Amino acid sequence: MKHPLYFRLAWIFLILLSTIEGKTQGFFMLTPETDSLGRVLLIGKNKLAGPISVILNCNIYDGIANKSLPDTEVIAANSEVRMLEISPDKEKTPVWLDFRYVITMGDYLNSAHNDSVIYLLPFKSRKCVRILQSYNGDLSHKEQNALDFDLNLGTPVLASRSGKVIYVKQDSKNGCPDQKCAGMANMIIVLHNDGTLGRYAHLKFGSALISVGQEITAGFPIAQSGNTGQSNRPHLHFDVLLPRFTNQAGVTIATSFQLGNQVAYISGLNCIKSP
Ligand SMILES: [Zn+2]
Repeated sequence: MKHPLYFRLAWIFLILLSTIEGKTQGFFMLTPETDSLGRVLLIGKNKLAGPISVILNCNIYDGIANKSLPDTEVIAANSEVRMLEISPDKEKTPVWLDFRYVITMGDYLNSAHNDSVIYLLPFKSRKCVRILQSYNGDLSHKEQNALDFDLNLGTPVLASRSGKVIYVKQDSKNGCPDQKCAGMANMIIVLHNDGTLGRYAHLKFGSALISVGQEITAGFPIAQSGNTGQSNRPHLHFDVLLPRFTNQAGVTIATSFQLGNQVAYISGLNCIKSP
């Protein structure tokens, strides 16, 4: 016999992918179901083309969970898992629960940046391109290892490193310097083979040249630079994120670039030339 299922309260915390935007919202769903034994099953469904890490916690009344909580799991790309089973602890007693979860894009367990990788500049330019903001920049990169390149609207953006495209947003035409525009940034996210995520943001409306699920190599043209999202001038924001449960959805990593004959980290606000 099926037991009725009540949710006293269900609330959700979603980690956004930093202040740039990049919502994981909509890619993960936690759905309660009941089975023929009267158990409540919490099914986690990941619709992203890359893994999602989840911390699930519940308060359970008149029921017993099959594992200790909080439960932390990594759900593979485009898949679903039974995250929790809750059995009624008395005959015919409905299970009451409230649940909440935190998610972050990527696999928090199997990711560690490969520091020997040399990144390519995400553009080709004969003229020197200014760095508008480098690591730990005052404007929006405080405690972030992120780079803002001064690229004109419509400049081809190239992949800095090979990987699999797991997220493409290109439907935004809007941008402004205010926080209210943070969610309007067009963005491409590439999953690298060490589990880190390369993020290319503020891209031009409708300019993506790749699609979700596509494997790309370093130097591959992926989109055009733009001025969407929280942005006060056309530029490209680039960073590499190590998936972790932080309030920034991960830890941004300093990466070395091929700069002419040199391999170096980009620092300061000098301009740089592509090789
Ligand atoms: Zn930036």
